[in-house]
Order: sequence, then C-alpha cells, then structure tokens
Amino acid sequence: MGDAFRRAAAQINGVEPDNIMCCNGGDDLLTIAMRAFCDEQRPVAFAEPTYSLYGVLARIQNCPVVDLAYDHDFGLPPDMGRTGAALTIVCNPNAPSGSFVDAKELLDLANELRGTGILLVDEAYADFAKGNCIELVARCENVVILKSMSKGYSLAGLRFGYAIAPKEIIDGLVKVKDSYNVDALAQAAATAAIKDQEYLRENVAKVQSERQRMTDELTTLGFQVRPSQTNFVLAKCREPSARDLYDKLVERDIYVRYFNLPRLTDKLRITVGTKDQNDKLIEALKDILAKPE
Ligand SMILES: *Cc1c(COP(=O)(O)O)cnc(C)c1O
Repeated sequence: MGDAFRRAAAQINGVEPDNIMCCNGGDDLLTIAMRAFCDEQRPVAFAEPTYSLYGVLARIQNCPVVDLAYDHDFGLPPDMGRTGAALTIVCNPNAPSGSFVDAKELLDLANELRGTGILLVDEAYADFAKGNCIELVARCENVVILKSMSKGYSLAGLRFGYAIAPKEIIDGLVKVKDSYNVDALAQAAATAAIKDQEYLRENVAKVQSERQRMTDELTTLGFQVRPSQTNFVLAKCREPSARDLYDKLVERDIYVRYFNLPRLTDKLRITVGTKDQNDKLIEALKDILAKPE
C-alpha cells in the first residue's frame, strides 16, 4: 500500500521501497511498534525527559517502562543497551532538549541490543539536524527509523509519516497496522511533498537561520539556551520563573511550551516561528524583563 510514496521515499533515503511503510503520521508508527514489540512481559525503554507519547502508549499497552535518564548534557544513559527491553526508543534529535546523538553512538547501541531488542530512532526532527541514522537500516537487522512529514515539510495536518526498516521488520509491522492506515489523498499529497526536496531545503534553511538568531537574542537577554538541532529551542530562565514568563506571554497571546516535569520546570520550549513571530516574541520578552514586579 502506498507504492508511489514508498518508491519516492526510498529513492530520497537511499533504501528500497521494501524498507518503507507508510503511516498515519509518525505517531501511528509509535502505536504500531508498541503493539508489535511490547506487552506485559516485554518492556519498552527510553531516556527522559523526552516525547511524552512514549509513556502514554506504554501505559495503554500495559507494558512496563524501563525509565532511564539522560545525563546532564543530554547524552545517552550508559546502560541503555542492557535493560532487557524488547523496544528501546531514542528520540533523535530529542524533544524538548533539542540535543543530538551521533549515528555512531546509535550504531553501538543497536549492536548492543542485537538479539534482545529493537532500536526505534524517532527522527521526527531530523530534517533540521546535522545528520540522521538511515545508514543503520542497512547495517543492523534490529533498527526502525521514524520519519514524519509534520515538521520539516510543515504538513502536520496531512497526518503522514513513515517507517524505514529492514524488510523483515517492515513485513511484521504491516501485519499489525490498520489495513488502510493512510488515505489516498494524503498519499498523493505526501508523494508530491517528498519529491519537492528543494522546498524542504529552503524551509529547513529558514528555520536553522532563525534558530541561530533566536539562540543569540535569547542568550543576550540572559537565558541559557542549549544548541538545538530541531525547530525549537529550550531556554533556561533566571528571573522571573519559567512559569511566570509563560503566563505573561499567554497574556500577550504568545504561546510557548512550559513542562511541569523534572529538569524542565526552569525552562521554556520555544518553537522557531516566522521572522515576524520571532521578533514579536523577543520584543515581548524584552518588555516583560524590563518591568519586574
Ligand atoms: C511530531 C512528532 C512525532 C510524529 O508526529 P506526527 O505528526 O504524528 O507525524 C513523533 N515524535 C516526535 C518526538 C514528534 O515531535
């Protein structure tokens, strides 16, 4: 199913159409993988903080979670390959940290997991990053890559994503997915979109350049900003608190993300917008910081 898209995606990613499965958004692949690989006896492992859906899907599937923590610099936990989990998920680049792990490290992790578990690399944000892990699919029989059209292609409403994996894994995942998980209109639009690599490059270049500008401006305003490989930045706030800043921005109709979670309560996740939106955010922050109560 989705042959035209699979051919186009295979060519762009340097794999075969047999290595591609179409999904109703990348989230659909997470559900399919969790149902295929995990149950009460087969745990999932991931390092936190990360994409909150992993934990939600695990709870729905009644599958135990091996809860690991990223190190202070958002490097992978050293014991990640030895948890015994059936499925290990690495969001790369990671949300909401914006951090990035090299393919070499993930290759080592995949090799460590060989024979015991699957490594799923969630590359929803990889279009904005300096690299990706697609080469691992040819080298490791236990790797699944998640791709999404929602971020780099700005097509979140289309609901289209796909898996890249060895043929044997794709064949298994296809048995678990809904028979008709992507509709014909979405397939046509996604195929046209992925063939337009020129648009993707321009879109990504704009985001990367604004990401750098936001990082610089926020740093000048006193925020600590992690170098980001995504389309958002994670900014650590001093005074006022992240929660206060979040509220004050909402009052001005500016929406960023605040997470009441370990390691994140002093930070805001700010999506890189258009130049105009970014200017408005920076101006609003200057204004708020200039008049403390
Ligand atoms: C956006 C996102 C996805 C997939 O999103 P879809 O819109 O379902 O394609 C998967 N993982 C992460 C971390 C994301 O941010």
